Amino acid sequence: MGDKGRVETLLAQAGHYLDRETGSVVPAIQPSTTFARDETGDLYDENRIYARDHSFNAEMAEAILCELEGGASCKLFASGMAAATALVQTLRPGERIVAPKIMYWSLRAWLITYCADWNVELAFYDPSNEEDMCSVVKAATTHMLWIETPANPTWEVVDISKAAELAHSVGAQLVADSTVSTPLLTKPIEYGADYVFHSATKYINGHSDVVAGAVITAKEDMRWERLCKVRAQQGGILGTFESWLLLRGMRTMHLRVERACENAMRIAQHFQNYPGVSEVIYPGLTSHPNHETAVKQMTGGFGGMLSIRFNGGREETAKIMGRMKYFVRATSLGGVESLVEHRALVEGEGSLVPDDLLRFSIGIENVEDLIKDIEQALDC
Ligand code: PLP
Repeated sequence: MGDKGRVETLLAQAGHYLDRETGSVVPAIQPSTTFARDETGDLYDENRIYARDHSFNAEMAEAILCELEGGASCKLFASGMAAATALVQTLRPGERIVAPKIMYWSLRAWLITYCADWNVELAFYDPSNEEDMCSVVKAATTHMLWIETPANPTWEVVDISKAAELAHSVGAQLVADSTVSTPLLTKPIEYGADYVFHSATKYINGHSDVVAGAVITAKEDMRWERLCKVRAQQGGILGTFESWLLLRGMRTMHLRVERACENAMRIAQHFQNYPGVSEVIYPGLTSHPNHETAVKQMTGGFGGMLSIRFNGGREETAKIMGRMKYFVRATSLGGVESLVEHRALVEGEGSLVPDDLLRFSIGIENVEDLIKDIEQALDC
């Protein structure tokens, strides 16, 4: 327990925030883009010059995320993609990144073109196969190993300790996309990750009204310095108002994540042997191939994301989705409202996602309503 209390206290009180001047328990929005100097040219606050890199509101949210993840420092970015791409941009031409075949689709697509254009070597491994990860990493000199756990949208859970050991054994660094695990269920730095990445658009904000990204580092090393420069020079910082909203969303993250995990587990269990369903993919089910790893590194729940595969092909699955009434047909995840998506349709040509799969982001609604909604869509 730190001096700001346990996780729930840290979050609910936004790091025990209190403005001593006004007594306010909610931080003000500080929109200034520039910071003044006194008569002698000294800055009033030596840490603040210009808002492309210095933001009071971003720093408040960064401090809490950093504490949650047990890191040395945190930077917020204008989106998850801005954060992830900045991290990859710290690699030099000629260096090598190894990434999973199953990962957030847009990042995978960006990696393919960026790495080809900038002469960064890119190789993919199968996240469901530890031996494959090992042989791809060792096939050439690797500088960065990227994992996403659980991985979108088939929820492979990668053993972070083993991935860290592997990366470090060849002198590489491990980056963990922990968006789906949230900073509450898994703390990748405890398992040896060098960097933790989040699309903060998802559970960290939780209200589907802010696009944001975060990187937390285990130590302030050379790559961290480069990442800070990328953000400062490219101007990818999260805006002031968005940072303020993010912090507000974070104050209830523990309650939202807890409820989403409970609801997801109930739904997964309910539909795992249900007529018309061929498979429920959820790390909390004992039938999940990585359940043991999930038990080891996901504490307090298995997340709010699950996928269901249905009997029948693309058309029938899309029709099931079309009949849903409470689940909103939309992309994204981690908000208070439940969403459903046909990933293969959304990803289009080249998608590795099966045609009969729907991805569900389970929210905090009444779980009986959600169960009934899927049932009526299936039973028609
Ligand atoms: N990583 C994962 C696992 C995601 O689900 C997403 C977005 O869906 C991203 C990264 C990209 O984040 P953003 O949409 O905030 O740019």
